[in-house]
Amino acid sequence: MQHPSFEFHRIPVGINNCFLLRGGTTILIDAGAPGHVKDFMHGMDRLGISLREIDLILLTHGHADHIGCLRQIQHLTGARIAMHEADCHWAESGSPGLPPGVTLWGRLLHGLGRVLYRPYIHPCEVHYVITTARSSLMGLGYGIPGQVIHTPGHSAGSVCILLDSGEVFAGDLAMNAWFLRSTPGLPVLAEDMSLVIQSWKRLIRMGARHVYPAHGTDFPIAVIRREIDIWEAKHMAFQNKNP
Ligand SMILES: [Zn+2]
Ligand SMILES: [Zn+2]
Repeated sequence: MQHPSFEFHRIPVGINNCFLLRGGTTILIDAGAPGHVKDFMHGMDRLGISLREIDLILLTHGHADHIGCLRQIQHLTGARIAMHEADCHWAESGSPGLPPGVTLWGRLLHGLGRVLYRPYIHPCEVHYVITTARSSLMGLGYGIPGQVIHTPGHSAGSVCILLDSGEVFAGDLAMNAWFLRSTPGLPVLAEDMSLVIQSWKRLIRMGARHVYPAHGTDFPIAVIRREIDIWEAKHMAFQNKNP
């Protein structure tokens, strides 16, 4: 919140943290878990910000818990929707994917999710399809001091929003909620962990210093650095055992 004309707020919507970025325009990051649109409306009420002030809904990715209220929020706000091209079909079909588990608990969650988690998601048109590896929100005219970075790994179309001041809105590229993992760190569900690691290394090189995950509370980037070291040590050990 360092920029004189910029601030951001967290709005919990079910199990998903949405974030509201307020600068030259107002951007909502993510659209909440299914069935929780009232949480979003209460959050906006508490902030005293009118729903129609939101110009853009920017989705970190297309899983159900991030697009659950997308069509309702789009109707309430009249905002345009932006999303990476690789995840667009999930929002537009209303049939999002479920990533595989990459830990024992993650695999259990994935198995349970496939059987028990079948929320109805309203299909929703995506107005702006993200195809670039990085885009400046200032350069695009949104008046927000940050960039949208394509960070595949949790899903193919995952993006993070990295502020010039080092805060990163990471979607599910990091997790810190009790039902996912007991400590902050890397995702327990991901399509490709080696891509998750590469995405984090790029974000760190670009100046990420504090992480705001979509699930749970924020934490310093040192946690991710340590988790990368642990993952790489394990991965190298595995490679050495299986030359
Ligand atoms: Zn996800
Ligand atoms: Zn999620």
